[in-house]
Amino acid sequence: MEFSQRITDLVAKAEEALQPRFAEIDKISFENTKKIMDAFREHRVSEAVFNPTSGYGYDDRGRDVLDAIWAEVMDAEAAFVRHQIVNGTQALTIGLFGLLRPGDIMFSIAGKPYDTLDEVIGNTGTAGNGSLKDFGVEYREADLLPDGSFDREKIAKIFAEDGERIKVVFIQRSKGYLNRKTLCVDEIGDIISYVRTLGKDFYVVVDNCYGEFTETREPTAVGADMIIGSLIKNPGGGMAETGGYIAGTARAVELASYRLTSVGVGCEVGATLGQNKSLYKGLFYAPHTTAQAIKTAHLAAYIFGKEGLGFDVEPDWNEPRYDIIQAVITHSAEGLCAICRGIQAGSPIDSHVVPEPWAMPGYSDPVIMAAGAFTQGSSIELSADGPLRPPYTAYLQGGLTYESGKIGIMSAAEEALKVL
Ligand SMILES: *Cc1c(COP(=O)(O)O)cnc(C)c1O
Repeated sequence: MEFSQRITDLVAKAEEALQPRFAEIDKISFENTKKIMDAFREHRVSEAVFNPTSGYGYDDRGRDVLDAIWAEVMDAEAAFVRHQIVNGTQALTIGLFGLLRPGDIMFSIAGKPYDTLDEVIGNTGTAGNGSLKDFGVEYREADLLPDGSFDREKIAKIFAEDGERIKVVFIQRSKGYLNRKTLCVDEIGDIISYVRTLGKDFYVVVDNCYGEFTETREPTAVGADMIIGSLIKNPGGGMAETGGYIAGTARAVELASYRLTSVGVGCEVGATLGQNKSLYKGLFYAPHTTAQAIKTAHLAAYIFGKEGLGFDVEPDWNEPRYDIIQAVITHSAEGLCAICRGIQAGSPIDSHVVPEPWAMPGYSDPVIMAAGAFTQGSSIELSADGPLRPPYTAYLQGGLTYESGKIGIMSAAEEALKVL
């Protein structure tokens, strides 16, 4: 792969400007790694926890110890981590169905949740498929204000109307596929304190996807009852082959565990089939891998933003980050597709294929996705995707190593130059 002088020079300038940011990112990675190693030490992790179980998976010590470590690292009372959870959407579905009952209200206070939850909630899709709506669970939403902060007035109004029936207050930490700000843990903590003044007997559930280990605390440290995420994003460290997790208060996690398996059985079963080692190793790597991805995102913001190719970017290169996503707003389908083509060409796997938009299950618009990853669909590995709808935003995320992330970004920049 050859890079032009223009892009090579731009990267050199970017890296010089980014040194102070990179140093801060390394500090966060160190803190989180220390926390994880302390938990490993405390729980006496040894070769034996990697032993596979089969069948029911009773007495799988590796599974139980990993759950305990996960809870500790997330500052939660309890947690479960399972390779059986197929993706983040299923983990979220387990959590929501675990907590919500007919007549209850799910109230999303950070605007529209991630696209794949539309059918789970029942806002789209076929009636009768078994959405929350089919089971008599209602849904309310309060958008974030234009400056990205919570709309406290609207939240208070909805609590005043229906407070008694609100069972889940839902917060999506990361921007997902929306042009909004990603929330930091402090902001999440502030809003949780606020909603607790408006009512009681509800659970605060945070869609934690993409946020893990970007800061030194998770939302469970500031009052969230449940956080949920995918192992082929940050907390799998690029090592987990598949899976998801839920962490939170003992009761909330117990209720979710009854949806994970069945009522009464919960976390007592689940054969690990030899997956334990990659989950332990993934958690061990997760802070470092997340740091690599965040550095890659900073670099992308600089290269594609006003210092470089001149696109609108969110966040900007010198802003702090609370997830691994970099939005590049291209304002054209060609721009979005060019960036995806470049990321694909600059990937370690499948660099020879050309991504095309497709009607992906669970999404309402065609989506283009570039991912040349060791693990299919992994977005802790460098990937770029976006729905084909204005303003044609390319969402870039991941980078297993900064070096490979940089190569991917340079390749994408070269492709973008061709359509500018
Ligand atoms: C990735 C993601 C999800 C879940 O998506 P899956 O593809 O099912 O893993 C949910 N919410 C957010 C914010 C996400 O980024």
